[in-house]
Amino acid sequence: MTELRIGHGYDVHRLKEGRRLILGGVEIPHPTGLLGHSDADVLLHALMDAILGALGEGDIGRHFPDTDDRYLDVSSLHLLTLVKAKMDARRATLVNADITLILQKPKIAGYIEKMKRNIAFALACDESRVNVKATTEEHLGFTGREEGAAAHAVVLLSLET
Ligand code: MG
Repeated sequence: MTELRIGHGYDVHRLKEGRRLILGGVEIPHPTGLLGHSDADVLLHALMDAILGALGEGDIGRHFPDTDDRYLDVSSLHLLTLVKAKMDARRATLVNADITLILQKPKIAGYIEKMKRNIAFALACDESRVNVKATTEEHLGFTGREEGAAAHAVVLLSLET
Protein backbone atom coordinates (compact mmCIF):
# COMPACT_ATOMS: atom_id res chain seq x y z
CA MET A 1 0.00 0.00 0.00
CA THR A 2 1.15 3.53 -0.66
CA GLU A 3 -0.05 6.70 0.95
CA LEU A 4 0.29 10.16 -0.58
CA ARG A 5 1.15 13.03 1.76
CA ILE A 6 1.40 16.73 0.95
CA GLY A 7 3.59 19.28 2.72
CA HIS A 8 4.06 23.04 2.57
CA GLY A 9 7.07 25.12 3.57
CA TYR A 10 7.66 28.85 3.84
CA ASP A 11 10.78 30.74 4.82
CA VAL A 12 12.23 34.25 4.85
CA HIS A 13 15.79 35.49 5.25
CA ARG A 14 17.18 38.98 5.42
CA LEU A 15 19.61 40.22 2.73
CA LYS A 16 22.82 41.71 4.04
CA GLU A 17 26.02 43.06 2.53
CA GLY A 18 29.05 40.84 2.89
CA ARG A 19 27.07 37.59 2.92
CA ARG A 20 27.18 35.04 0.12
CA LEU A 21 23.94 34.59 -1.84
CA ILE A 22 23.25 30.87 -2.02
CA LEU A 23 19.98 29.68 -3.49
CA GLY A 24 19.16 26.09 -4.32
CA GLY A 25 22.77 25.26 -3.47
CA VAL A 26 24.08 27.65 -6.14
CA GLU A 27 26.26 30.61 -5.22
CA ILE A 28 25.07 33.64 -7.18
CA PRO A 29 27.29 36.73 -7.53
CA HIS A 30 25.52 39.66 -5.86
CA PRO A 31 26.49 42.51 -3.47
CA THR A 32 24.19 41.12 -0.76
CA GLY A 33 23.50 37.63 0.52
CA LEU A 34 21.11 35.95 2.91
CA LEU A 35 21.73 36.20 6.64
CA GLY A 36 21.34 33.16 8.85
CA HIS A 37 22.96 30.61 11.12
CA SER A 38 23.47 28.21 8.20
CA ASP A 39 24.15 29.35 4.64
CA ALA A 40 20.57 30.75 4.82
CA ASP A 41 19.50 29.09 1.57
CA VAL A 42 15.88 30.21 1.85
CA LEU A 43 14.79 28.10 -1.10
CA LEU A 44 16.12 24.85 0.37
CA HIS A 45 14.79 25.75 3.81
CA ALA A 46 11.25 26.06 2.42
CA LEU A 47 11.72 22.75 0.60
CA MET A 48 12.97 20.97 3.74
CA ASP A 49 10.08 22.35 5.78
CA ALA A 50 7.66 21.07 3.14
CA ILE A 51 9.20 17.58 3.23
CA LEU A 52 9.22 17.49 7.04
CA GLY A 53 5.63 18.75 7.00
CA ALA A 54 4.56 15.93 4.70
CA LEU A 55 6.28 13.45 7.02
CA GLY A 56 4.56 15.03 10.04
CA GLU A 57 7.96 15.69 11.58
CA GLY A 58 7.77 19.35 12.50
CA ASP A 59 10.21 21.73 10.85
CA ILE A 60 13.91 22.29 10.25
CA GLY A 61 14.19 24.44 13.38
CA ARG A 62 13.39 21.32 15.41
CA HIS A 63 15.82 19.04 13.57
CA PHE A 64 18.66 21.53 12.99
CA PRO A 65 18.38 24.20 15.71
CA ASP A 66 20.17 27.51 15.13
CA THR A 67 21.54 27.26 18.66
CA ASP A 68 23.58 24.21 17.61
CA ASP A 69 27.10 25.08 16.42
CA ARG A 70 27.14 21.95 14.22
CA TYR A 71 24.87 23.89 11.87
CA LEU A 72 26.83 27.16 11.85
CA ASP A 73 27.46 28.09 8.19
CA VAL A 74 26.43 24.57 7.21
CA SER A 75 25.48 23.95 3.60
CA SER A 76 21.72 23.62 3.31
CA LEU A 77 22.30 21.06 0.55
CA HIS A 78 23.96 18.94 3.23
CA LEU A 79 20.94 19.45 5.49
CA LEU A 80 18.72 18.36 2.59
CA THR A 81 20.61 15.05 2.44
CA LEU A 82 19.86 14.62 6.18
CA VAL A 83 16.17 15.27 5.45
CA LYS A 84 16.41 12.71 2.63
CA ALA A 85 17.65 10.19 5.20
CA LYS A 86 14.50 10.88 7.24
CA MET A 87 12.45 10.23 4.09
CA ASP A 88 14.28 6.93 3.57
CA ALA A 89 13.64 5.93 7.19
CA ARG A 90 9.91 6.40 6.51
CA ARG A 91 10.16 4.72 3.08
CA ALA A 92 9.04 7.95 1.45
CA THR A 93 9.84 9.01 -2.09
CA LEU A 94 9.27 12.36 -3.72
CA VAL A 95 6.40 12.47 -6.20
CA ASN A 96 7.13 16.10 -7.00
CA ALA A 97 8.19 19.40 -5.48
CA ASP A 98 7.20 22.87 -6.62
CA ILE A 99 9.22 25.75 -5.19
CA THR A 100 8.66 29.48 -5.66
CA LEU A 101 11.40 31.94 -4.78
CA ILE A 102 10.43 35.57 -4.16
CA LEU A 103 13.31 37.93 -4.80
CA GLN A 104 13.58 41.34 -6.42
CA LYS A 105 17.21 41.02 -7.54
CA PRO A 106 19.22 39.46 -9.06
CA LYS A 107 17.55 37.57 -11.89
CA ILE A 108 17.99 33.87 -11.24
CA ALA A 109 16.60 32.36 -14.45
CA GLY A 110 20.10 31.34 -15.53
CA TYR A 111 20.66 29.37 -12.31
CA ILE A 112 17.41 27.41 -12.10
CA GLU A 113 18.60 24.32 -13.99
CA LYS A 114 21.61 24.01 -11.68
CA MET A 115 19.35 24.39 -8.62
CA LYS A 116 17.09 21.63 -9.92
CA ARG A 117 20.12 19.40 -10.48
CA ASN A 118 21.37 20.02 -6.94
CA ILE A 119 17.98 19.24 -5.40
CA ALA A 120 17.39 16.14 -7.54
CA PHE A 121 20.88 14.87 -6.65
CA ALA A 122 20.33 15.41 -2.90
CA LEU A 123 16.94 13.70 -3.05
CA ALA A 124 18.14 10.96 -5.43
CA CYS A 125 15.29 11.58 -7.84
CA ASP A 126 14.83 12.61 -11.44
CA GLU A 127 15.07 16.34 -12.15
CA SER A 128 11.62 16.20 -13.77
CA ARG A 129 10.17 15.81 -10.26
CA VAL A 130 11.53 19.19 -9.13
CA ASN A 131 10.20 22.55 -10.30
CA VAL A 132 11.87 25.82 -9.31
CA LYS A 133 10.44 29.16 -10.29
CA ALA A 134 10.94 32.74 -9.20
CA THR A 135 8.97 35.91 -9.06
CA THR A 136 9.46 39.45 -7.88
CA GLU A 137 6.82 41.28 -5.88
CA GLU A 138 6.91 44.28 -8.18
CA HIS A 139 9.04 46.41 -5.81
CA LEU A 140 6.41 45.99 -3.07
CA GLY A 141 7.11 44.96 0.52
CA PHE A 142 10.37 43.69 2.02
CA THR A 143 11.32 41.59 -0.99
CA GLY A 144 10.56 44.50 -3.31
CA ARG A 145 12.81 46.78 -1.24
CA GLU A 146 15.56 44.12 -1.51
CA GLU A 147 15.60 43.71 2.28
CA GLY A 148 15.08 39.98 2.07
CA ALA A 149 13.99 36.95 0.12
CA ALA A 150 11.18 34.48 0.70
CA ALA A 151 10.34 31.05 -0.63
CA HIS A 152 7.33 28.76 -0.69
CA ALA A 153 7.48 25.04 -1.38
CA VAL A 154 4.87 22.36 -1.84
CA VAL A 155 5.80 18.69 -2.00
CA LEU A 156 3.96 15.45 -2.52
CA LEU A 157 5.49 12.34 -1.00
CA SER A 158 4.58 8.72 -1.55
CA LEU A 159 4.98 6.56 1.56
CA GLU A 160 5.01 2.78 1.56
CA THR A 161 2.81 1.66 4.42
MG1 MG B 1 15.55 29.53 7.13
